[in-house]
Amino acid sequence: MGAEAAPRAMLKSLRRVAQEVFAASDLGEALAIIVRRVRETMRTEVCSVYIHDPVTDRYVFMATEGLNKELEGRFSLGLDEGLIGLVARREEPLNLDDAESHPSFVFIEGSGEEVFKSFLGVPIIHHRQVLGVLVVQQRERRRFDEEEEAFLVTLSAQLAGMIAHAGAARSFRRGTRDPAARATEFPGVAGSPGIAVGRVVVVSPPADLKAVPHRDCADPAAELQVFQQAIAAVRAEVLAIRAELSTRVRPEEIALFDAYVMLLDDHALGGEVSERIRAGQWAQGALSQVVLAHVRTFEAMEDPYLRDRATDLRDLGRRVLAHLQADSRGAIDYPERTVLVGEEIPAALLAEVPEARLAAIVSVSGSGNSHAAILARAMGVPSVMGAVDLPFAEIDGAEIVVDGHEGRVLIDPAPELRQQYHEAMEAERAQARELESTLDLPCQLADGMPVRLFVNTGLDSQLMRTLGRGAEGVGLYRTEIPFLMRESFPTEEEQRLIYRSQLEAFAPRPVTMRTLDIGGDKALPYFPIEEENPFLGWRGIRVTLDHPEIFLAQVRAMLKASAGLDNLRVMLPMISSTQELDDALALLARARTEIAEEGWTIATPQVGVMVEVPSAVYQAADLARRVDFLSVGSNDLTQYLLAVDRNNARVAALYHPFHPAVLQALVRVVEAGHEVGRPVGICGELAGDPGAALLLVAMGYDTLSMNATSLARVKATLRRFSLADAEELLATVLRLDDARRIRATVEERLRAGGVALRP
Ligand code: PEP
Ligand code: MG
Repeated sequence: MGAEAAPRAMLKSLRRVAQEVFAASDLGEALAIIVRRVRETMRTEVCSVYIHDPVTDRYVFMATEGLNKELEGRFSLGLDEGLIGLVARREEPLNLDDAESHPSFVFIEGSGEEVFKSFLGVPIIHHRQVLGVLVVQQRERRRFDEEEEAFLVTLSAQLAGMIAHAGAARSFRRGTRDPAARATEFPGVAGSPGIAVGRVVVVSPPADLKAVPHRDCADPAAELQVFQQAIAAVRAEVLAIRAELSTRVRPEEIALFDAYVMLLDDHALGGEVSERIRAGQWAQGALSQVVLAHVRTFEAMEDPYLRDRATDLRDLGRRVLAHLQADSRGAIDYPERTVLVGEEIPAALLAEVPEARLAAIVSVSGSGNSHAAILARAMGVPSVMGAVDLPFAEIDGAEIVVDGHEGRVLIDPAPELRQQYHEAMEAERAQARELESTLDLPCQLADGMPVRLFVNTGLDSQLMRTLGRGAEGVGLYRTEIPFLMRESFPTEEEQRLIYRSQLEAFAPRPVTMRTLDIGGDKALPYFPIEEENPFLGWRGIRVTLDHPEIFLAQVRAMLKASAGLDNLRVMLPMISSTQELDDALALLARARTEIAEEGWTIATPQVGVMVEVPSAVYQAADLARRVDFLSVGSNDLTQYLLAVDRNNARVAALYHPFHPAVLQALVRVVEAGHEVGRPVGICGELAGDPGAALLLVAMGYDTLSMNATSLARVKATLRRFSLADAEELLATVLRLDDARRIRATVEERLRAGGVALRP
């Protein structure tokens, strides 16, 4: 690079290159942009990129500017070959002024490389995996300087995720006719256990052009009509806004609306979309492809004014899409074994699919302790979360295997593989039938000591499932779930009816109703909370203390619902200080006085606090003294203690409830609660893990509340061990300092005790 190229200029272009690459439609285009732009920006003579091919386990020469283009995709290097292999193996840059004299140098016939002396190669690394190597070369015999090296390293780090994603999609598409040669397996995070084989139904979030699945249409004429109606509706909308604004904004801004309307016309965007529909695509797919292609063109423009027009175009496309989606809602014909696949799986949708048809869920975002995964677990539906590389928009209607144990999905599996998974499913069913019989037995340890098992609820279907399944009560009723399924806050009377049915279903057994816990990964569609750090933000009790009208309506509804049943327990989420607790208790007392004044006679409910943030662990005794019970929310407690977002697949491997710090916190809470004479339970997912249940019993937890589907397995496990066994195991693991060793020790002990961990 010439000395005149200032580092600032390079850094400025970094953003542009990354933007362009992100807008590319596939891996080939992205790599071509990278090599072209890097060569230009660094003013070098050559830029090439090698990508690792998992099938051949070699680095393929994928794109170049400056070497022989005819070799693109045609030659490759083994893992130990050449300077490329060396960069990849060492996982760090290699900067040479005379490449040829390096002992690892391999000459590639016909590449034209012989004249270039200097060489700078940097690895492209994603999630600790080397995806390939980016190389620049020059005739001049000189080392690239530090700024040049920093530029290439930064660019490579920025592009790695995008290359990984595009690479996965590419391997899915390539050789579609030869399933054997095609990569069809996509990793994710284990969401809820179980295996399912079914058909994909892609779930599109509203008005997201990038998430529209590819689908053919059977009747193009009808589809065209649907599209025309959507266009007409948007045109009317835009004209209405124009009329509304015409007296308030400047004429040149009004002209923008006219341009909008023209874009919808048949000789502009509208025509292109119609053409694709006539060729057999469905309207939503045709629209998203046409709009996104134009958006990419605008985004790549130099002129900032024109670049901004990309936003207008996208907005217009989203408006039309929203109409198309509204028209097709309710028209989905869910196949026999539906597997819902999407960027996100909203709770409301889980309820929409007829229960008998829902085989599994797969989500591109989220992780094993996201609420979507918890709901799936509650319903006994296998799920895989965080399948970030899954080209989900392209697999609508495909056959899919969901392996919720390992956290992976397979698209269009080969017949032998499908057979293997069917057999595994059969074995799981047989084991579930065997466990079923345990449910009617009392829950006690091998030495006869009773253990109280509660169930977590929230979904209606789950309620049916849990009835009579051997739980002694409800340890956590997530009230936000009925809130998530609606289009506005339910009224107090609506809430009273919902809560009444829960309380009646379990009476005389206790039902622990948690006050609204929204925020984090639970956003109500009608009460959006946009925050940089939602899990550290306005969540749970923080929201309801700021909105006493919501809190009061809810607890009044709970209290009224318990009239004559007297089995209500109220639980407060996300308490992080005594002040919050005092404020919430004061509101609760107010609600009780109010409804007593209205003539209701209600028994005083037990009130409890969830311990799910670290401050509550250290103040457990202070909190417990003020209430009747404590209940640990281990899902949040784990994320906050370990600083690992429970909803982020990238750090899912670090989310470890068997971490020694978590176990020590659990011990501390139960001891603190007991010291002041209060019972302590746990209602996070950890309670449903058979090995953890054993440890929790040994710690002294009074109740374990879990998903209905975990009850049988936990009960069967606890019945095999005595309290002395459990205490001995706890003492052993508390001496260990590593989460993985703790898990392995617990599993080993379960196996030795005759517990089948998985079919
Ligand atoms: C928890 O955090 O452990 C808990 C039970 O609450 P939720 O999963 O709903 O946040
Ligand atoms: Mg929680």
